Amino acid sequence: MADPTGLWRAALAGLEKTVSRDQLATWIAPLRPLGRDGAALVLGVNNELQKTYLAKHCQGVIDAALGAAAGEPVRARFEIDQAGQSVLFGAPEAVALSATRPRSARSSALEDGGLTLNPRYQFETFVVGKNNEFAHAAALGVAERQGRSHNPLFLYGGVGLGKTHLLHAIGHAVKASFPGKQVVYTTTEKFTNDVIKGIRDQSMHLLRKRYRHADLLLVDDIQFLQGKESTQEEFFHTINDLMAVQHHIVLTSDTHPKDFKVEDRLRSRFQGGLVADLQAPDVETRTAILKKKTESDGISLPEEVLAVIAEAVQSNIRELEGALNRVLALAATTGRPPTGEVAREALRDLISISRPPRTFDRVQEVVARRFSLDVALLSERTRTDAIAYPRQMAMYLCREMLGASYVLIGDKFGGRDHSTVMHAYDKIRRLKDTDPETRAHLDEIRRVLDA
Ligand code: ADP
Ligand code: MG
Repeated sequence: MADPTGLWRAALAGLEKTVSRDQLATWIAPLRPLGRDGAALVLGVNNELQKTYLAKHCQGVIDAALGAAAGEPVRARFEIDQAGQSVLFGAPEAVALSATRPRSARSSALEDGGLTLNPRYQFETFVVGKNNEFAHAAALGVAERQGRSHNPLFLYGGVGLGKTHLLHAIGHAVKASFPGKQVVYTTTEKFTNDVIKGIRDQSMHLLRKRYRHADLLLVDDIQFLQGKESTQEEFFHTINDLMAVQHHIVLTSDTHPKDFKVEDRLRSRFQGGLVADLQAPDVETRTAILKKKTESDGISLPEEVLAVIAEAVQSNIRELEGALNRVLALAATTGRPPTGEVAREALRDLISISRPPRTFDRVQEVVARRFSLDVALLSERTRTDAIAYPRQMAMYLCREMLGASYVLIGDKFGGRDHSTVMHAYDKIRRLKDTDPETRAHLDEIRRVLDA
């Protein structure tokens, strides 16, 4: 009898013929054979949701394929696989450590004298876009050069835009490259509690030992220092001591230092280093983040689904992740493959009801109407200017507004090559800057699509 991996591979070959491509890609291909248990093959899943879905919808076909491959009855048993567990469904913070990363990379609260770094928040899992490239570069700079780059680094931006993620990533990177360095991560809340405790128990020396001996001090959500005078005083001396010996400090905040209501000397310290902001991600970055999250979970979703999610949540990456989870959950619980329709249904409350959803059909329809064309012509081979120009414009808008890939756009326009789409996109982008008429057309069409 074949080993578990061989058996699973043989069964997969059979399943390719019996289940739909979507179902195979989304639910079955990510399964991991873990071993045999009598007449059962144990298959690893990432979470309870997948387990329930598979048991409900795929048990029969998988058992049949296993039986056929083994030549005897074999039943699949789905088990949550901790080692390979993904973080997509908000797995508990501590278990998501990738199997390839050595255990020592994991922070321990004890050795840090601070809080634990979240293993999910690494540079490798951070998607860089126009909105955050400066902050990302600054964070990398600190990780590589520490005291020798601008000190402190002050990261600021709205909720859910990746400040904490970057802060932790710096901590992980420094620990990995300089294992001897003392990295202390804390939140302003914890620092404040430590100060209160220090005053109450007359144990300020312990607090000073912890924070002022750090090689790298990472402090999250510094906006909470406002209005806390004793904590500000202690904090000022802490960062002064560290800066005097060129030890690095990284701070995050939802407020720019110039608007900070703290002692002047502290504010000027904050402004004296490097201030880098994180902005809301554009549609391409949002799509890239969704892709990264799903790929790391071994799930592949149709582009349309990613586009619907990226469109529904525009300014908070934590909510973007939440929306993705809702779509997957709806698909799992109803047994439907994750399609654009399922995504729209799952995110109904986020998508404005009065506005028809932005889809390929919708973009094509609005463009065709603007140029008084039959919409089918956009997908035909006709090359006359009267049709080529609106078609190129529609392709451009599909890329800009739906964040779709060139390949997919080609498919949606009668199976054209991606290079044709790229050419169309570049052409309209150039015209937009040089030709007032094109700009006016685009504005007008966008207004209709946004209405
Ligand atoms: P903030 O501290 O700014 O409120 P977080 O750092 O907690 O935001 O980020 C919220 C969530 O979004 C986290 O799960 C984080 O991993 C994710 N996230 C934020 N920015 C990115 C990014 N550029 N790439 C990938 N994930 C991101
Ligand atoms: Mg945060």
